[in-house]
Amino acid sequence: MAIELKSADDLARMREAGLIVYEVLIELEKLAQPGVSLEELDAAAERETRKRGAVTAFKDLYGFPKHICISVNEQVVHGVPGKRKLKEGDLCKLDFGVIKRGFYGDSARTVCVGKVSDENKLLCERTKAALEAGIQAVAPGNRISDIGAAIEATLQPFPYGIVREYSGHGIGKKLHEEPKVPNYGPATWSPQQKNPRLREGMVLAVEPMVNLGTWKVKMLGDGWTIVTEDGRWSSHWEHTIAVTPHGPQVLTRP
Ligand code: MG
Ligand code: MG
Repeated sequence: MAIELKSADDLARMREAGLIVYEVLIELEKLAQPGVSLEELDAAAERETRKRGAVTAFKDLYGFPKHICISVNEQVVHGVPGKRKLKEGDLCKLDFGVIKRGFYGDSARTVCVGKVSDENKLLCERTKAALEAGIQAVAPGNRISDIGAAIEATLQPFPYGIVREYSGHGIGKKLHEEPKVPNYGPATWSPQQKNPRLREGMVLAVEPMVNLGTWKVKMLGDGWTIVTEDGRWSSHWEHTIAVTPHGPQVLTRP
């Protein structure tokens, strides 16, 4: 499948969608305190999005039943918000997208609930730093593999597992477009993995998922929630980024 290049007008719309995602995530982060239930956060995501004239992107996509993916502790991604309440020390991953004027924005952050352990705080900070390194590689002329290589190099000093089964992706008029954006360098890629050069007008969601232990994950019986195979905790950060002649433009933050 050809990679869609976005016009200046498309990018302006994606910027609008991206900023709404950012604002809603900031509101949710404030609410993510001990005692709040995940379904309350889901309702707040819907309310804050509607207030801004947009529509939440994940509801009913592939059959997902809620407005936001919330994954706690050993849950990596695709957690379905329910009655569970956050507790002091939890790592709460908020992964959220909206549609505005036909375009998508997608971003995730790990919220440290109250005071978390040093080990988990470091995991969170280092995963965020790895995303920043990945963002710097979103430049015209680079290849997709440069993004994952930068993420992997940033995390190399630490005994962490970078999740391989899930990747970043192209984004635009659909949430998931070509190409896949792995979070690790090409040494462990499958032979089928495409590695195009980055061109002005491409928009990518880069989203490292990093575990304290093994990189291996499995799905829970609900058919959605992805957890680490060894039960150790995980962090996830994501931004939507446009390739511009001047380098990366992060659309999901001011
Ligand atoms: Mg996402
Ligand atoms: Mg994504």
